[in-house]
Amino acid sequence: VNEEYRVDAVALTAFVAALFGAAGCSPDEAHAVSTNLVDANLAGHDSHGVGRAPRYVEMIREGLVVPGRRIAIDRDGGNVLTVDGASGFGAVIGAQAVDLGCDRGAANGVCVVALRNASHLGRIGAWAERAAAAGFLSVHFVNVRGRSLVAPYGGIDRRMATSPMSVGIPIAGGAPIILDFATSAVAEGKVMVAATGGARLPDGVLVDADGRPSADPVALYGETAGALVPNASRGAGALAVFGGHKGSGLNFMIELLAGALTGSGVNRTFRDATEQPFRNGMLSIYLDPERFAGRDYFEREALDYAAYVRSSRPAQGHDEVLIPGDKERRSRVLRLRDGIPLSQVGLARLNSVAEQLSVPSLTMR
Ligand code: NAD
Repeated sequence: VNEEYRVDAVALTAFVAALFGAAGCSPDEAHAVSTNLVDANLAGHDSHGVGRAPRYVEMIREGLVVPGRRIAIDRDGGNVLTVDGASGFGAVIGAQAVDLGCDRGAANGVCVVALRNASHLGRIGAWAERAAAAGFLSVHFVNVRGRSLVAPYGGIDRRMATSPMSVGIPIAGGAPIILDFATSAVAEGKVMVAATGGARLPDGVLVDADGRPSADPVALYGETAGALVPNASRGAGALAVFGGHKGSGLNFMIELLAGALTGSGVNRTFRDATEQPFRNGMLSIYLDPERFAGRDYFEREALDYAAYVRSSRPAQGHDEVLIPGDKERRSRVLRLRDGIPLSQVGLARLNSVAEQLSVPSLTMR
């Protein structure tokens, strides 16, 4: 569904980097943003892939994201830091914040970084993967300020955000184990994919204007559900939280950890983007397993447990039991081999931005 072309990851990265270069990013920054988006496609999360590039370019024009920004350390307690993302590209700011956390964590095995005021941090699992590559176990909680789209458990009105979290477990010489999801029933990007002709959503991931469970993107986008760029301020319903009252409670706490504690600010208005422009805040905790039960022991236990869980007999409708990160890793192997799927609409949107920026269009064989 909604999949008409396959594009090679390297070619796609170069094309998207050219867009950001023409939109005002340095070559390094353009490449970092492009690589981050293409990597989300490779992981199978098209909702956070190159389809976001047109919006990112618009955000530069609107001043919602500013090229060339770096993190600024507000408070430096050695291994407890508060840093400001200065409205910079999440792909750059996120990487700088993770690198800072791992550098500072080296001294005594623990570091906590509270990041505020970043632009879109994209797929949060990317940050857990970066920390794992540096040997750190990490936990990330993310606040999505200015996107109050999710109804709390037992409620009808938009009060919460999609507030994702990620946990990454480093495995020396092997793939890290990465958990990464939104605490809404699905990420907003998946509703957008469904609204523009992609896969149908499961029932109950949305609630309609009267609070009834729904699978219809109209609940979120109203009459703009079929438009090229659906507008979430137009729907009368909301996204549902995941996991009933437990997911709602987790979402609530993520907002406090990643919005209030970081200084990024919690969601407090609905449909007032002027008062609360979109920003991501992220509370990240970095731990060196060597300082606890020891790296070798920890990894052995982690791998043993993974094998034990996988060994469960699959339930009806499942071929096998997966652990966190399996799906993304498999997707990466397949998409590196076969290319990244791009819909006709997605390609047209990218090429129309390319035309505005006088960048040669992406052509399909
Ligand atoms: P999702 O529902 O696809 O869940 C992904 C997680 O579930 C992964 O850890 C995956 O390995 C695991 N998983 C998937 N299928 C599985 C199976 N069959 N068995 C066991 N585990 C399985 O993810 P989502 O909630 O739609 O989120 C998508 C992306 O959106 C994430 O990368 C998230 O970080 C991102 N996001 C970002 C923001 C932001 O503001 N930056 C906001 C919301 C979401």
